Order: sequence, then C-alpha cells, then structure tokens
Amino acid sequence: MDVVAVAHSLATFSEKSFPVDIDGICLDLKVAGKRPTIWVSKNLRLERKRFTIAHEVGHVVIPWHFGTILDEIDAKPKKTTSEYFEWEGEANRFAAELLMPSVWADDICRRSTHLRDAMHVIAQRAEVSLRAAALRVLRLGPPGYLVAAARNDVIEWTGRTKGTRSHGPNEGELVSTIDMPACEEPQILRYNQTSYLWWKERGSIKPPRRAPSEGWRTILSEMLQLVPEEKSEQIRRQINAIVGYAIGKEPKGSPVDVIYARAVASLQNRSSADMHLSMLLSHPKFDDYVLSRVYERSQAA
Ligand SMILES: [Zn+2]
Repeated sequence: MDVVAVAHSLATFSEKSFPVDIDGICLDLKVAGKRPTIWVSKNLRLERKRFTIAHEVGHVVIPWHFGTILDEIDAKPKKTTSEYFEWEGEANRFAAELLMPSVWADDICRRSTHLRDAMHVIAQRAEVSLRAAALRVLRLGPPGYLVAAARNDVIEWTGRTKGTRSHGPNEGELVSTIDMPACEEPQILRYNQTSYLWWKERGSIKPPRRAPSEGWRTILSEMLQLVPEEKSEQIRRQINAIVGYAIGKEPKGSPVDVIYARAVASLQNRSSADMHLSMLLSHPKFDDYVLSRVYERSQAA
C-alpha cells in the first residue's frame, strides 16, 4: 500500500522535524472549505512512519474525528482523555486495515503452517513492524496460538488468538523460566533486540502415568486437610469447577490424551490470589487428582 500517495490524495501532506517527541499531527479536520493537513515526523523508522501516515489518514477519513490531533502512537491510555484514546483506537484499527487488509492477511494466516511465519510474511510484504503484524495475526489467526515479545530475556508483552485455552507467560517474567507444557516448543523470530516467541497448543498430550488407584474425591479430601475447615467446602468447589470446566469441554468417552491436553492447557501458568487455592493447585497430589478425573471422563460412556 502506497500510504504516501493515499495521504497526498486526501490531505496536504509533508514530513517535518518536530521539536518535541511526537509521531504525527493532523490539522483542520472537518473544517468547512479547508483541506486537512497531515504532518509526520521525519525521524521515524520506515515501518513506524508508514503506520503513522496510515493512522493520520484514518483521522482524516473517519467522519467524527475533527479539529487538531497530536499523535504519540505508543502513548498509554489515560482516563482523563478517554475520547482521544477512543479516536486513537479507531485510527489504529483503520491503519491496520489499510496496511494489512483482513482478506489478504487472513489468507496468509490460513496458508502458513505456523503463525510465526504468518507474522513474518505480513511484516515483510506490508512493510510494517513485527509488532503490528503480530497484532494483526492474533486478531485473524486460528485458536491455539500464544505469542510473547521479549527483550533482554524479559517478556514485554503477550497475546493469544481468540479461543486459545491455555494461559501464556506474564509480562516481566524471564524467558528462561517459562514453562508451557500445553504447547509445542516455541518458534522464535529474533529481530534487533526483540525476540518473538510463538507457541502452538498441542491437541493431545500423553499423561505421564496410569490412573491413580484412589478416586479423585478421596484424593481431593486428603489435599483439603491443609485448608482450615471453614474454607474447605469453598476450595473444594473451586478446584472441582476449575478442572471440571476444562475437561468438560471434551465429550465423555474421548481419548485420555485429548482430555488430558485440555486439563494441562487450562492449568498452564494458572495462579490464584487466594492462598489456599494456590496451595492446592501446587499440592504434590494435585496431578493425581487431575489424572483421576481425566481417566474417569475418558472411561465414562
Ligand atoms: Zn491519532
């Protein structure tokens, strides 16, 4: 997409050296008898400049954006200026669609064997940043993918496609400590100082051992001895709900490997603010409890 030509066709467009740290400015939006003006910072990298121009074009085209708008694309939303950030979201979505049209990007996602590759292809062909391409791919890609961007081994942001069951790592976590048992080994793309790690969920996981001899109710009662009696019933219900909800998505009688994959995905990176619930989720017998429920569901008619 030749965004410069688009900008010229809709506004008076030029590149400027701004004395302050901003990416672009729109002037005279929706002023009767006046052609709008777009200025974009000279000093931006190519990809960021293209995105900024497309974003400013969005302000020109979207009917209810008016007046003068100063843009700092990476700014974090503040509550005091919620309308501005609403407009920003709209202009960003417009820019993403202009640079990476849904139909085109969706086709690339479908034809890629892994979304890491889709991100790479979209970034190169659309001349956008890997971050912008990753966001596009997260929006359009199939369920079952998670991504994290890391710099100096520290996770800076994460995302997952719609319908993905497992939890990703948390921002601020170290890449070297990530544990993602529900997923295949990550596919990684390194660019400048940033690594993009893409995980794909596994459809089935072989349980580490056979069904425990005790039933899951017995195992859970034993685990609950750690919890004060007045909280015991609440925690029992919570544990049963968390695991029951996860494995309940596979029909009774499904293969053990498939139901087990559901359980692992749902529990991956899960933590709780409740001390007692956390204690039970990391209890040495918790795996036995999960396995027992998985085998029971698989054997049920
Ligand atoms: Zn803007």
